Amino acid sequence: MIYCVEDERNIRELIVYTLEASGFEAKGFVDGRAFWAQLSQEKPELVLLDIMLPGEDGMTILKKLKSSAGTRDIPVIMVTAKGAEYDKVLALDGGADDYIAKPFGMMEFVARVRALLRRTQAHSSSRRLCVGDLEMDVDKHVVMVSGQEVALTLKEFQLLRYLMENRGIVLTRDQLLEHIWGYEFGGETRTVDVHVRTLRQKLGRSGELVETVRGVGYRIGGSDRLK
Ligand code: CA
Repeated sequence: MIYCVEDERNIRELIVYTLEASGFEAKGFVDGRAFWAQLSQEKPELVLLDIMLPGEDGMTILKKLKSSAGTRDIPVIMVTAKGAEYDKVLALDGGADDYIAKPFGMMEFVARVRALLRRTQAHSSSRRLCVGDLEMDVDKHVVMVSGQEVALTLKEFQLLRYLMENRGIVLTRDQLLEHIWGYEFGGETRTVDVHVRTLRQKLGRSGELVETVRGVGYRIGGSDRLK
């Protein structure tokens, strides 16, 4: 899933259309407010960010993304105005992973998106996920608590991985059901609760890292003491 924040409707629609035609899932947002609302629902693989936006500008959004542990690793491409050298410098200084100047050719644009995804995904597949004393080697399917290996079922592992990948972000029971069990479930969100309970037990002392957010769902690594 790729998110595009761009207030100019023609450009936003063209970007979303081009990405979808190239086999990506994409969503467009008119401003930061709409973007943040959706980000708390689903974390994207990449964000395209226009600089001049109504309300919060692109640089402010970039800084917020890069200063939060839950969103820092999302790659960002800034979309700058043509020839604005200053914007490019600011974007890269602000932590953007790449930039592209408007107007751009769609072939080049898709190539840049693919290149950045390749770069960041090659990175993340060999990466370990860590929260507090909890460590996960995604490729080897190994979970360690304070250096001791913990045996998890496949569903428990997938649940923990999804929470760790979205560190700091609250995931609803419906999201967890859909992502891990792969279907929409009418009311049977209890399945999630049961798996969270056994997962917590197996993680022992680190089980408390999996927080219940009352009335919403679950989150890992949400409080400052874990950073
Ligand atoms: Ca704009």
